[in-house]
Parts: sequence; C-alpha cells; structure tokens
Amino acid sequence: MAPGVTRRVVLLAAAAGLGLLGAGLAVSRLSLPPAATAAAQLLPVLPTRPPNEVGRILILEYHRIGSAEDRWTRSVENFRADLHRLYDEGYRPVSLGDLLDGRVDLPAGLSPVVLTFDDSSPGQFRYLERDGEVQIDPDSAVGILLDFHRAHPDFAAKATFYVLPAAAQPHRLFGQPAHEHRKLRHLVELGFEIGNHTLWHANLGGADAATIRHQLASAVRIIQEAVPGYRVRTLALPFGAYPADLAVATLGEVNGTTYRHEAILMVAGGAAPSPFAAAFDPLHLPRVQATSAELDHWLGHFARRPEDRFVSDGDPAAVTVPQPRARLLRSPLPQGIVLRVH
Ligand SMILES: [Zn+2]
Repeated sequence: MAPGVTRRVVLLAAAAGLGLLGAGLAVSRLSLPPAATAAAQLLPVLPTRPPNEVGRILILEYHRIGSAEDRWTRSVENFRADLHRLYDEGYRPVSLGDLLDGRVDLPAGLSPVVLTFDDSSPGQFRYLERDGEVQIDPDSAVGILLDFHRAHPDFAAKATFYVLPAAAQPHRLFGQPAHEHRKLRHLVELGFEIGNHTLWHANLGGADAATIRHQLASAVRIIQEAVPGYRVRTLALPFGAYPADLAVATLGEVNGTTYRHEAILMVAGGAAPSPFAAAFDPLHLPRVQATSAELDHWLGHFARRPEDRFVSDGDPAAVTVPQPRARLLRSPLPQGIVLRVH
C-alpha cells in the first residue's frame, strides 16, 4: 500500500466539500490551513485502495441526455447522480487520449473512468440564447459536467463526443444548425475530445471499402473544417458493427483528408482492460452502457472485487501492481514507464 493514501483522499474530499479548492489548483500542491484540518476529520473516510494499475477501467457510453429516462436517454437527474456516485466511489474522469497514451495521472487510490457520448444529440451540448448572448445549457451534458467540475475541482470535465456531422436532425452536430462549428471548437477549447462516429451512423458491417473510407474521411473533413488541424484519434462503431477488413477502418485517405484511428470502441462488452495489460486491444475497446442496471452491475462488481479495479499509484511515470496480478501485464510496457510490484 502506498503510504499516505488514506490521509490524502480524506483531505481532498474535505477540501472539495468545503469549497477550498480553486479551479486549476493542482492537487499535488494542495495544503490546507489548520482550521480546515479539524473539519476534515469529521468527513467519512474513503476506503484505502492499494494501487493496481493492471485492473480494469469503465468506459461509459451515454446516448441522449434529457428530461425523462428511457432506454437510450439518461435523465438529467440521473446523469447528475451518476457523477456524484462516481465521485463518491473514487472514480475520476481521464481522457481517452491519455488512456491510449498510457498516461493515467490521478492521485493514489483513485480510479479512472472514461465518459463517452454517442450520436451528438441536443441534450449533450445545447446553447441557450438569452438577451443576445449564447450560454451553455446547464441541463445539457456539457453544462452538467462543467458545473460538477466547478463544485468538485478534482473531478475533471473530460469526455469524448462521437459526433454525426451529416445525420438527420436532431442528431447532426447537436441539433442547432447555427452553432454546429462553434460547438465543435468550443468542445476542444474546453478540453473535451471529438471522435468519429461516421457521417450519419452508417453501418460499416456490410459496407464496401470505398463507402467506409468515404464515411470516415468525410466525417474527419467536416470536423477539421470547424477545428482546423484537429486530430480525431478514435472511432466508435455505429451499432458496434465491425467492417470485414479492420484496416480500412483504422487508416485511410479520401481527396486529401486522412483518418487514422488509434482505437475503435464497441457498444458493449463490459469493463476495459488496463492500457498496461496484455489483454488491452485498442481496436476492440469494450464499453459499458450507462443505464441504471449496467452502472449498478459494474460499480457493484468493483466494490465486491476491488482486485479487478484499476487503482492509481499517483505516479504517471510508474505502473504499480500487486504481485499476484503482475502476470496480467503487457510486455514490454510503454517506453519510460517504471514497473513497481508490491
Ligand atoms: Zn451511435
């Protein structure tokens, strides 16, 4: 067990609850005034989790965010509750790009979670116009994530949006035609990621190579028209349907627009292997659909079987695993990463 884990987690939880953390204040530089330390003792102690960086990771998959819960809609209320639950149970968002790069930069004892949103519906990112000014709807996913981050600065607002640049409304780039390009730029400015989900949710399963290339390259071209030079790193397969030739989905070029997908996300499959595990296969990354039943199942699973859960050691340059799990590691590890077995 890494020394000091319990104390740090308690103090962070306390500081967040007391509103002492300013936005942008690095966690590692946190120091609390003596008055706050007494209050911190009163807050519940999170369980101490020994580092296990070969454990599995939740990549959550959201579709619509709206007023009423249904199969493909997470209600605004439930989405807020999901963030609180993840926070309380020691999960913190990391970007998919960082995960692919093997960079999990979280304090010791915390677990990464990746948030993904498919199909660019309005409830994910809506603008409200008031007195000629454009604001982010606080009840859209982006607004909710930003608000939650303001209230809990150690819970980063990070997510990947798998957008449809040429779908029928309301799914075309979040359903507000006047703001399509501005929203894509805004997402990137806010530190979110944009992923490929084809032009209009095309089923790549039975498609020929030319159709697949057209769908994937055209989506990238439209995203890059809005955000010049933006690197679209990942693809979420519509319907989870893999093309017969995987190479066509990972790399291609049409009329000067190149796409290069480092990861391909499925629509289901459970928790994903750690990027440091031998089982990690970026071209077949499983996800967990963020329904109440699936969240209960997987958060319950990690609560009952903590040895299966990715837990950070607090040091992005090292990979720390319990001795019995070391056999699950991939070999070699990414360059420059130090291995620690405990
Ligand atoms: Zn979709």
